[in-house]
Amino acid sequence: MSVTKKLLDAVDNSETIVALTGAGMSVESGIAPFRGKGGLWEKFDPEEYAHVNAFKREPEKSWMLFRLQYNEISKARPNPGHEALVKLEEHGLSAVITQNVDGLHKNKEVVELHGNIQRAYCTGCNMDYNTVDFVGKEKSINCKCGAVVRPDVVLFGEPLSNSVLSRAWELSSRCDLMLVIGTSAVVQPAASLPLVAKNSGSMVVELNLEHTPLTNRIADLSIFKKAGEILPVILDRLRHS
Ligand code: NAD
Ligand code: ZN
Repeated sequence: MSVTKKLLDAVDNSETIVALTGAGMSVESGIAPFRGKGGLWEKFDPEEYAHVNAFKREPEKSWMLFRLQYNEISKARPNPGHEALVKLEEHGLSAVITQNVDGLHKNKEVVELHGNIQRAYCTGCNMDYNTVDFVGKEKSINCKCGAVVRPDVVLFGEPLSNSVLSRAWELSSRCDLMLVIGTSAVVQPAASLPLVAKNSGSMVVELNLEHTPLTNRIADLSIFKKAGEILPVILDRLRHS
């Protein structure tokens, strides 16, 4: 049986489906992932730019990376994979849990594990801002109160929000099928969610271009195809079955 048919059957036989997505989901929207070929980490050392201690030490330097990411993300649009996930709600998809900070998922419930780069806030008085107001080299990164502003994203070395994480845990433990899409599955605690699903009796299917720590272990099925290509095919076949 082809892997596509196996996935089709899995979707067809599942009442509650949850998708867990990573940077690979947005590559076809023109956003570079962190790891792998063309990844941001080829140019930026995470410890130097995106670690919370680096930000505290030299916020201007971290803002160089934030601005670059923001500019790339603000030009991007949802790709056919994102669109297929929205339509998959008619076939049992109940929520998307994402590690992405790009806001490209338009599903009814999107759990943003690592925040959203469109939003920013002041590290002093907590005032809410839009990141766009700080993009542009000459712009100040300071709030009216004088403290430094930061994007509302989780930096390396920081914990995730408790409420967001517990919702992700709850969704993962209550699904029949988890689709793990475009994630290298190495960043914790997101990488544990497929195990939570599996231990609760769910089937786990990963869509990626390469092997990950889930392949041949936690994943019941691994499909090595582009998310933006395989998801619309699945949807199309579901509609005609
Ligand atoms: P990652 O960069 O570690 O891994 C990306 C994975 O996607 C790789 O395994 C790669 O093989 C796969 N991939 C690439 N193109 C694909 C495609 N077209 N279809 C299917 N799979 C594809 O990403 P990650 O696991 O999400 O983890 C790291 C961190 O990166 C997260 O914390 C996230 O916040 C951050 N990030 C987010 C964005 C974004 O918001 N779009 C972009 C870069 C990094
Ligand atoms: Zn302030």
